[in-house]
Amino acid sequence: MQPDYSRQMLLKEIGARGQEFLARSRVLIVGAGGLGSPALQYLAGAGVGYLGVVDADTLDASNLHRQPIFALADIGDPKVELARAAVQRINPTVHVELHPVRLDADNALALIRSYDIVVDCSDNFRTKYLINDAAVLAQRPAIFASVYQYEGQLQVYKPEPRHACLRCIWPDALADGVVGNCAEAGVLGPVPGTFGTLQALMTLKILLGLPGQLEGELLLLDFTNFSSMKLKAPRRAECRAPDCAHIREIAAEDADIEITLPSLTAAAQLGLEVIDIRTNEEFSAHPTAARHIAMPILLADPGLLPLGKEFMLVCASGKRSLAAARYLRKRGFAVRSLAGGLQALGA
Ligand SMILES: [Zn+2]
Repeated sequence: MQPDYSRQMLLKEIGARGQEFLARSRVLIVGAGGLGSPALQYLAGAGVGYLGVVDADTLDASNLHRQPIFALADIGDPKVELARAAVQRINPTVHVELHPVRLDADNALALIRSYDIVVDCSDNFRTKYLINDAAVLAQRPAIFASVYQYEGQLQVYKPEPRHACLRCIWPDALADGVVGNCAEAGVLGPVPGTFGTLQALMTLKILLGLPGQLEGELLLLDFTNFSSMKLKAPRRAECRAPDCAHIREIAAEDADIEITLPSLTAAAQLGLEVIDIRTNEEFSAHPTAARHIAMPILLADPGLLPLGKEFMLVCASGKRSLAAARYLRKRGFAVRSLAGGLQALGA
């Protein structure tokens, strides 16, 4: 059985083109909890093609009142795996990519860079600031939400010069425990439920370019009296993001790793030897004039590249070559990656 998106495709802003775009979109959800549950449900239902889930925890009985994608029988199981099962029940065409890790300064940038949008469904400030800094560096939109007892707030960061980031609004990283997370302060399930749903809505709005994207604004909702407030929050000139020195270092290592060229011969003019790292099958089907060393062989024996020379790796789409270039750079080789791969050359 195939999912039927007709009800949302009826919206004239979406249609078949918007639906196809969603199917190619990649969204990273950090935290499969009270915010992540509804965000995953609605993004899966909408047909977002690729959902990454970051969560290192197992399901606890105290999670269930606010995390309705899980069940009592699942207690003790890893949440990423349960989240994948839940998404597949809703929409088996969605690819779920599991990241059973804690987001940290080592993995945040690479993870966020490999998605189109990051949704902050975490419950602690350390992770929120990490997501913010990595999103600023990776130039990815980030959708933040936090809840406290009966109230919460929603903020959208977009990689545009006038948009506030999390540090523009909250310049001093708040220590965990100052406001309190669910474990300490208590929360009523539908409060994160509402905010996770709003995060899914904002994700779809940004992916589809729909109006009303909370640009440079902070939305505050208080469910004790149903008051709402929108605060204008411009980018601060003295914004410190990215403040995390380790993420800045990782970004610096990556500086100029990708190169955009009109042709492979242009690389030679820059003194770069081109290495085609596609599989034997890909290479024989569509050969290039470059030296061919399949990626697994190259990574197993980087000595195939003489030190002291500069190289440019190419693959079909530029993803494998980027990963291989990062790996080889860490080992001291002067390697770059052709952005967009052979596809970008129209080859
Ligand atoms: Zn900022």
